[in-house]
Amino acid sequence: MLMRDEDMWRAVQRRDAAADHAFVYGVSSTGVYCRPSCPARRARREHVRFFADPAAAAAAGLRPCRRCRPLERWQDDPEIAQLLALCRFVDLHADPLPDGGALAARAGLDAFRLNRLFRRYLTITPGDYLERERVRRIKRALRTSASVTDAIYDAGLGSSRGLYERAPRALGMTPRQYRSGGAGLTISWAIGATPLGPVCIGATDRGICYLQFGEDRDGLLAQLAAEYPRAQLAPMAPTAQPAFDAWMAALNAHLEGRVPSPDLPLDLRGTAFQVRVWNYLRSIPSGAVVSYGEAATALDMPRAVRAVASACARNRVAVLVPCHRVIRGDGDLGGYRWGLPRKRALIDAERRIAAARKRAR
Ligand SMILES: [Zn+2]
Repeated sequence: MLMRDEDMWRAVQRRDAAADHAFVYGVSSTGVYCRPSCPARRARREHVRFFADPAAAAAAGLRPCRRCRPLERWQDDPEIAQLLALCRFVDLHADPLPDGGALAARAGLDAFRLNRLFRRYLTITPGDYLERERVRRIKRALRTSASVTDAIYDAGLGSSRGLYERAPRALGMTPRQYRSGGAGLTISWAIGATPLGPVCIGATDRGICYLQFGEDRDGLLAQLAAEYPRAQLAPMAPTAQPAFDAWMAALNAHLEGRVPSPDLPLDLRGTAFQVRVWNYLRSIPSGAVVSYGEAATALDMPRAVRAVASACARNRVAVLVPCHRVIRGDGDLGGYRWGLPRKRALIDAERRIAAARKRAR
């Protein structure tokens, strides 16, 4: 059946389900294509184009609308029926998600044909489709699971690496933030002595998330609780004591000016921006200092000096994330969360190490 544009536009305006099988329409402002009866808000006429079928709309770069699911109106097309069956197969196999090979085997297609099938109607490859499905599951699991660790398994990811590798790009923030708050996080803590005073170290099962100086045990624990008000805090188990002793030995060797930078496992928790700044700080060589302006330039954000400074100030892992290596442009030490004398001492100790190394060379 050949319809004229004006008739098709009239069918769209009436949300005429009788026309659902006759054509689809694409909306250039949203990049999706719909069936005529789509309940979504009507698009402006100048943004609408008509296509004979979903393949033609996809060829123009449009994706099928989530709301009206136009493909489902074309199920009697054997290719579309096959594609939808594959999508349902993915839907039903939460854990683990099938890979492209499993989809191809299921459909009895080779990789090339499978690729073409997905591109033809969805504009994306099977790999893209699976990745989006994974991200969708991560988001859903993070919203409903008791903890990030639960979410990993609920999303069928199998390992925390999978989640943390995908999360920043997919969510625009870390999984923790997405879950809004620290509930469900377990941090084990221990207190040790250093030349710069007592420290409290807090760690998750992924690494050190907290290292702060303080005056005494009560003060240190109060600080930790203030940083992670909703986390579960527990003294480090005796079985973790050897690891903690090794961390303390590495930290003290550094603070006493014997080794440049301790390389301990970290679990940095903050916004994507903060984590980026903190990782940059770790790249500043021991013994060197940079200004906040230089740091912002090195991060490719020369105008974000204040944001960089505030990310430095929000650092929760003293020494290991060396925010003490950033000072003010005029040479003034700037601020330091754990007191300027400590900042001075850290910089001096690192300079001594750097100087000794130079002499040894
Ligand atoms: Zn629609």
